[in-house]
Amino acid sequence: MTPKIAQYLRDHAPATPCLVLDVDRVEQNYRRLKAALPLARVYYAVKANPAAPILARLTGLGSFFDAASWEEIEACLVAGARPEAISFGNTVKKVSAIKAAHEAGVTMFAFDSEPELLKLAKHAPGARVYCRILVENKGAEWPLSRKFGCELEMARDLMVQAAELGLDPYGISFHVGSQQTRTDTYEGAIARVAMLFTDLKEAGVKLRMVNLGGGYPVRYRQEVPGIDDFGTAIMGAMTKHFGNDLPEMVIEPGRFMVGDAGVVSSEVVLVSRKGKDDPVRWVYLDIGRFGGLAETEGEAIKYAFHTPHDGGADGPVTIAGPTCDSTDTLYEKSNYRLPLALGCGDRVELLSTGAYVTSYAAQSFNGFRPLAEHYI
Ligand SMILES: *Cc1c(COP(=O)(O)O)cnc(C)c1O
Repeated sequence: MTPKIAQYLRDHAPATPCLVLDVDRVEQNYRRLKAALPLARVYYAVKANPAAPILARLTGLGSFFDAASWEEIEACLVAGARPEAISFGNTVKKVSAIKAAHEAGVTMFAFDSEPELLKLAKHAPGARVYCRILVENKGAEWPLSRKFGCELEMARDLMVQAAELGLDPYGISFHVGSQQTRTDTYEGAIARVAMLFTDLKEAGVKLRMVNLGGGYPVRYRQEVPGIDDFGTAIMGAMTKHFGNDLPEMVIEPGRFMVGDAGVVSSEVVLVSRKGKDDPVRWVYLDIGRFGGLAETEGEAIKYAFHTPHDGGADGPVTIAGPTCDSTDTLYEKSNYRLPLALGCGDRVELLSTGAYVTSYAAQSFNGFRPLAEHYI
């Protein structure tokens, strides 16, 4: 928690549940990324947190943006981003969204299939296109499975076809999965991209850009490698495979940019036991899976908690949200412990929750309002 957030919570005690996010920390994270990978252009993955104050600050810093829908593109434009600084990075786009983006001056589009490529050729003629390939997600705590990306051979043929269709065959992208804790997963993916560059050069198509996607992790309960470690591993692999013919490099950080800039402040609604001698207490908070903590699904992302009784004696707990849905249980198997003194009405902070929380909150499930947001 940044000192500014701690001060804000002390001074204002805002109604819970709410997210308090320190926009200065977003700026620091942007600068840390630029320092770790000075040759890469930073495209902030808007879905991680699309709040206007974040987009405006990043625009002022010269950031680029990775948007997944027309609505996200519009939010970037409203925040002052130039259309040329926006990449339409979703490989699954509605025709109406492609048309709107093209008309607004967006020139960079992702795809991973022939039908999508044909849509782009028709509705965004001449656009710079890049193909997303499948890569391993080993080490990712929030992996992306096979939903996006295609095999190398298909990517090769599609890039040749892109040129034939009058599009600009710009480059190749991948995503190693979110909250990626291993630097070597990027190295493996870069090796695959390099093979494709070589194949396509032989086929007469000279690509110019590698998009290394997102994945850069935030510290929750466990220590993770620092952003400099990722920078070193990525630059090492780029140099190894491309020598002094380095292509343009793009990164699309989402979680890393905003995760540790935000804190969710919540309130304990109930602490109870299922049997008189049951050692495990159930702690019900006023935020849960539907209040925005979707990444607790499968207990994938394990947030760290801060309570007013930290340091006192603790015991095992199951942590759950306030709704009448049984899937609204956050942690049952991840060995969470909370202070024995914790009780109804205590405020509990969930640390590093600036990413993928407000954007996942349900509209009004069980009548609970969407998460309140304070950008400071
Ligand atoms: C979600 C997403 C990102 C951001 O991923 P993080 O793990 O949050 O850094 C980047 N690029 C694409 C295409 C995405 O879908």
